[in-house]
Amino acid sequence: MRKDVTAGFPAWKRGLLVGVIGLAAVGAAAGIRDRQIEGGREMVMGDASGEEEGAESRSGVEPGAETKKIALTFDDGPSDANTNRILDILKEKNVKATFFVIGQEDGESKELYQRIVAEGHTLGMHSFSHKYNVIYESLEAFSEDMAHLQSYLAEVTGVTPEILRFPGGSSNQVSNTDMKEFIRFLKEKGITYYDWNVASGDATSHAYTPEELVQNVMNDVGRYETSIVLMHDSSAKSGTVEALAPMIDQLKEMGAELLPIDENTTPIQQIPADSVD
Ligand SMILES: [Zn+2]
Repeated sequence: MRKDVTAGFPAWKRGLLVGVIGLAAVGAAAGIRDRQIEGGREMVMGDASGEEEGAESRSGVEPGAETKKIALTFDDGPSDANTNRILDILKEKNVKATFFVIGQEDGESKELYQRIVAEGHTLGMHSFSHKYNVIYESLEAFSEDMAHLQSYLAEVTGVTPEILRFPGGSSNQVSNTDMKEFIRFLKEKGITYYDWNVASGDATSHAYTPEELVQNVMNDVGRYETSIVLMHDSSAKSGTVEALAPMIDQLKEMGAELLPIDENTTPIQQIPADSVD
C-alpha cells in the first residue's frame, strides 16, 4: 500500500481535493465521546468537503467522459442491528464496499468482521475506541489505538487492514494534536487514509428519509470522477439500510462502477497526504 500514497497525487493537483474545512471547533473543549455527536460532525465536514466548481474541467476530462468510480463506505460498524442487513443487500446486488470499523470484542462482532472479509469487502480501520478525546490526545495514544485495532482485526480475520478513516475526517477540528502528526505517522506505516467527498447525510441531526439519503448521494456523485460516499453502519441508522438498495440501483443505472477501496482507488483526502512532509 505504501506506493499508493503517491498514486493519488495527480488527482489532488487537479484540484479535486480542496482541503480547508471551516468547522466549528465546539467539541474541542468538551471532548467528543458520543458517536451520535461525532456523526453529525462527520456530516458537516462531508457537506463542506470542498470541491471547487470546474475542477474536473481543469483536469481536461469532461465530466461524464469516463466511467465514474464510486466507493460506498460504512463507518462505525459492526452493528448488531444492521451489519448483516447491509451485507445481505450488497450480496444481493453483487456490490463490494468498504467498512471502516471500530473495535468490538464480542463474538457476534467477530463474526461480522469475518463476514465482511469473506464476502470480498474491504476492511478498513476507523479506530478501536472511537473516543476523540482519547485517540486525538497525542500521537502515542493514536498509534496505540490504531495498533490495537490493526492487530485485533488481523487476529480475527487473518487480514491486516492498511487503510484508515480518521474519526471526523482528516481535517477535523476537535483533535488536540496537529492532524499532520498523525498523517506523517500513517505515511511512515504505509497506511492510506480516506476521507469522503459525498455524504449521504445519514449522520446529521436532520432525519433524512431513505429517499432523501439516496437523493443526497445522487446529487453529488455527478460532480466527481471518483466518489467516496460516507454512510454509517450503526444500529440506530436503519434509514441507511433502507436507502442502500435503491441507491445502488440508481448508481448502476447511471453507469457508475461500484468498487471497494483498494490500491487503485484515488485517495480523497481533506488534508492531502502529500501536503505533509
Ligand atoms: Zn465514526
